[in-house]
Amino acid sequence: MGSKPVVNLSDDEIAVLKESSLLVGKTLAEVARRLAPGTTTGQLDRLAEEYIRDQGGVPGFKGLYGCPSTLLISVNEEVVHGLPGNRVLRDGDVASVDCGVLMNGFYGDSAYTFMVGEVAEPVRKLLRVTRECLDKGIEAAIEGNRTGDIGYAIQHHAESHGYGVVRELTGHGVGQLLHMAPDVPNYGRRGQGTRLRTGMVLAIEPMINMGVKEVKQLADGWTVVARDGKPSAHFEHDVAVRAGKAEVLSTFSYIENVLKQKGELITA
Ligand code: MG
Ligand code: MG
Repeated sequence: MGSKPVVNLSDDEIAVLKESSLLVGKTLAEVARRLAPGTTTGQLDRLAEEYIRDQGGVPGFKGLYGCPSTLLISVNEEVVHGLPGNRVLRDGDVASVDCGVLMNGFYGDSAYTFMVGEVAEPVRKLLRVTRECLDKGIEAAIEGNRTGDIGYAIQHHAESHGYGVVRELTGHGVGQLLHMAPDVPNYGRRGQGTRLRTGMVLAIEPMINMGVKEVKQLADGWTVVARDGKPSAHFEHDVAVRAGKAEVLSTFSYIENVLKQKGELITA
C-alpha cells in the first residue's frame, strides 16, 4: 500500500465518513449490551449485522477479501481477525471486537476490547494502556507530523509498560475503500514515514501484546494470535488529520455509556 497515493477528503466527505464511523460505535454499543459470560461470538455477529442494516448501513467487512462476517472477534491471545462462530465467551476473557460499516460510499472502521465478567488486573491494565496508546497516537496525528510520529508515540507508551507491539498489522487510511494509503504502523521513528496533511483520514489501531510482539496466523487463514499465547488488546478510531489537533470521527461514548451501566468500564 505504501506506493499508492494518499487521498485527502473534503470536509463534506469527512462528514459522510463520520456517519459511518458513528454507526460502528453504536453497533459496538449493541455488542456491549449483549456481551456476557455464555454469549457466543456468532450471536454478537448476527446482532451487529441486523443492527447495521436496520440503520441503513452495510457491514463493511463481510465479503471483503472473502471475510464471512460482520464482526471480527479476537479473544484473549487472539490479536485480530478472529472469526465469529460457536465460541462461548467465558468469565475472565477479553474480546476485541472490530467492526466496519459502509454507508453513502464511505467506510467507518473501529474496534474496542471488552472484558467478559471479572478480568484479572494485569489484563485490565493491558486494556487501559492500549487505550492510552490509541490516545497518544491520535495526539500525534496532526498536520506536518509523519506516520512515524504516530507509531513512535504508540510504541514508546506500550514498551514503557513492557508490552509487545505487533509489527505485521498496521493502521491505514480509510475512505471510499476500507484500507487505503498510507499504512499507519504502531511502531516507528519520529519524523519518518508519510507526511500528514489536513483532510487525510486514518484508522489508528494499536494492537498490543502483554508478552512478545511476535504473532502467527492460525490454520483458518484469518485468526492472528500472539506467539507466546499471552493476551492481546486492540482499540481503533478513525481520525481526520487537522492542524494542531486531530478530529476523532468514531466514538466510544455509546459503548462506554453501556459499560458504565454494567459496571464494566476498563478505566474503573
Ligand atoms: Mg478495524
Ligand atoms: Mg482498521
